Amino acid sequence: MDKTNRNHSIQCTVDACKYHCDNADYCALSQIRVGTHEKNPKEVQCTDCESFETLR
Ligand code: SF4
Repeated sequence: MDKTNRNHSIQCTVDACKYHCDNADYCALSQIRVGTHEKNPKEVQCTDCESFETLR
């Protein structure tokens, strides 16, 4: 995949993700999936990028 791609619709600061743009705070994917690990999410911390993959 092209990690220089800046998807301007998906800002992201998680540079520990293998899909993070290598030169700016954007995701390099064309789309992502967002979900939650809570039954009744009430705060931003309750949501997750489910497209995240670790660098290692
Ligand atoms: S997949 Fe999710 S966590 Fe990874 S760079 Fe894209 S938006 Fe960020």
